[in-house]
Amino acid sequence: MPIILLSKSYLLCCLLALALPCNTWQKEQSKLLLVSFDGFRWDYVNRVPTPNFRALIEEGVQVERVENTYITKTFPNHYTMVTGLHAESHGIVANEMFDPVLNRSFSMDGPEVYDSRWWEEAVPLWVTNQKAGRRSGAAMWPGSDVAIDGSYPSRYMLYNASVPFESRVKRLIDWFSGPEPINFGVLYWEEPDESGHNLGPESPLMDVVIADIDDKLGFLREELKRAGLYEQINLIITSDHGMTQLSPDKVIELDNYVRREWYTWIDKSPVVGILPRDGYFEEVYSALVNANPNMVVYKREDIPNQLHYKHNVRIMPVIIEVKEGWTVVQNRSDTHTFMLGNHGYDNRLRSMHPVFVARGPLFRNGYTKASMRSVDLYPLMCSVLGVHPLPNNGSLASVLDLLVPTSSPRPPLPPRPAEPSYAWAVGSLLGAALVVGFLFSFVKQVTQRQLPPLPLANKEMSQPLLQLRL
Ligand SMILES: [Zn+2]
Repeated sequence: MPIILLSKSYLLCCLLALALPCNTWQKEQSKLLLVSFDGFRWDYVNRVPTPNFRALIEEGVQVERVENTYITKTFPNHYTMVTGLHAESHGIVANEMFDPVLNRSFSMDGPEVYDSRWWEEAVPLWVTNQKAGRRSGAAMWPGSDVAIDGSYPSRYMLYNASVPFESRVKRLIDWFSGPEPINFGVLYWEEPDESGHNLGPESPLMDVVIADIDDKLGFLREELKRAGLYEQINLIITSDHGMTQLSPDKVIELDNYVRREWYTWIDKSPVVGILPRDGYFEEVYSALVNANPNMVVYKREDIPNQLHYKHNVRIMPVIIEVKEGWTVVQNRSDTHTFMLGNHGYDNRLRSMHPVFVARGPLFRNGYTKASMRSVDLYPLMCSVLGVHPLPNNGSLASVLDLLVPTSSPRPPLPPRPAEPSYAWAVGSLLGAALVVGFLFSFVKQVTQRQLPPLPLANKEMSQPLLQLRL
């Protein structure tokens, strides 16, 4: 009987409302996949036909100018995307670092990557998502195969550059659609960065590399469609930085200005971290500060505030930043191969900016936004996932227009321990009221069927009132 079927589903809804906080129930359905194509400069999409990027732009949103964080290198910016913090606050200040407190060095290619102490000045979103009771999956994202704050992603792959893009995609899709599914995934791919370094971004050969990235995006779209996820998932395609052309004529040799035995150089071109030997700080600084018009030399405390690159012991006491397109080495004779493209320069340079497109049920359709900062991505993703952001340098308000208006009932709240929330209480009360209401109406219907028809007297009693009112 229809009434019985209706009652069963009604009862199920009421029980679900009691079992789950109503906000959690709704947000459990938010799926988010963040994809980074390393070194995909913002304007590459305009350079060759990129039908898959175009489709996402038409179906979703595009941000024309994304100011990433200083320094515009791979590890600092990937950690910024998942923490909303500038490098000085999340602690991954460069691809090559020295920590004077730990008395240890870090290289992104070395085993120290797996030492969690380097990462634990921040907590990445995949961990926060898990603490909120969800599951996260990571395919090769920097830091995602390290236990941070005691946790690995629910599902992850150990970093191995030889694993093809297609395998990474398939693993992620399995995680999204298998038993105990993830609702948040991060996916990293090494290109077009590697080719950009080797060929230089202005090389016509880069056209082929960019077209190949668009094909890879097409593969991801097709696989999501095949798995029935395409319409459910919120998909963000971005990058850590852009790329600029270098020239063998634009090379600065430090040996011309300062004695090697006075310092150790930690991070390399184009922003060099200089660690003077004990007692040689002034010698090193004064030798370099006015040495070459194509480089700027800062004492750490004098680095401009707008770079947000000062307050961390892993930032070296002296920093050299060279002008766009310039390379700094100790001596040309040490350089066996010369890169034709590089990044790492001032994050206000247009050439350093990454691409940004997104589509999905929570994103607007066919919307173009003029600018955002990469630190704003983190609160945006927290809003999509419905998790409380940790303290960060971003602003949800400045990117909320990327989302459909109905998807914005999630104000940023400070992190808090898991405790019964107001929403949970409201959800529970509502659920209880619905159950009671259901039981009441059910009992009423049953008992009414057993009772004799109402006496006519009741109807007659109402007549005088109607007459009085008339
Ligand atoms: Zn690179």
